[in-house]
Amino acid sequence: MHKLVLATGNKGKLAELSALLAPFDWQVLPQSDFQVPDAIEDGLSFIENALIKARHASRLTGLPAVADDSGLAVDALGGAPGIYSARYAGEHGNDLKNLQQLLSDLKDVPQGERAAQFHCVLAFVRHANDPVPVIAHGIWHGQIAFDAAGSGGFGYDPIFIPDDAQSAASTQCTAAELTAEQKKQVSHRGKALRLLVSLLKGEQLKGEQG
Ligand code: IMP
Repeated sequence: MHKLVLATGNKGKLAELSALLAPFDWQVLPQSDFQVPDAIEDGLSFIENALIKARHASRLTGLPAVADDSGLAVDALGGAPGIYSARYAGEHGNDLKNLQQLLSDLKDVPQGERAAQFHCVLAFVRHANDPVPVIAHGIWHGQIAFDAAGSGGFGYDPIFIPDDAQSAASTQCTAAELTAEQKKQVSHRGKALRLLVSLLKGEQLKGEQG
């Protein structure tokens, strides 16, 4: 069994990645098992921040590590809130305030100019100084609504109308109106996770041959 550490304290993310990697002999351990303190995320992109977190977890545990970074990029705002998605309105993790701030910033932006994407980057490093990390980037395209709708999901889900929501839910809706299972099939995170798993399958084979 190969071991890797996941640089998050989020139980949902741990369960999701563990379930996907178990068939390929990877055991996923949370960084909290090793008392790893949070890394300082001072990168300017999702990729840089995911790598900072993965290298930090690997350095402190001596194990290969995976970290994720995600957020929403709005075209009309030059990609904001981007890496600042969790604290767009100033207070870390206040989903309602963040969403209201975004609606307010876009109040004069007409339909047709409200395109946005959710991004999820997963970075895997074999060791802290790995010069060739494995990067899986999932993107979910959509539009920002004029009003919030739906009670599922989290973050900006109530104001994000996925371009592919029609096929996932049979009618146009926000991400917060999809079931967790529907969201997993089409979301940035689902795409990045499936891509990472397919890339790590290659890792395992390389290990066996080498
Ligand atoms: P994290 O990287 O998963 O902590 O996400 C950072 C922030 O991006 C969250 O606090 C949310 O504001 C936003 N975000 C990331 N993924 C999603 C999503 O699937 N739905 C809604 N908001 C999201």
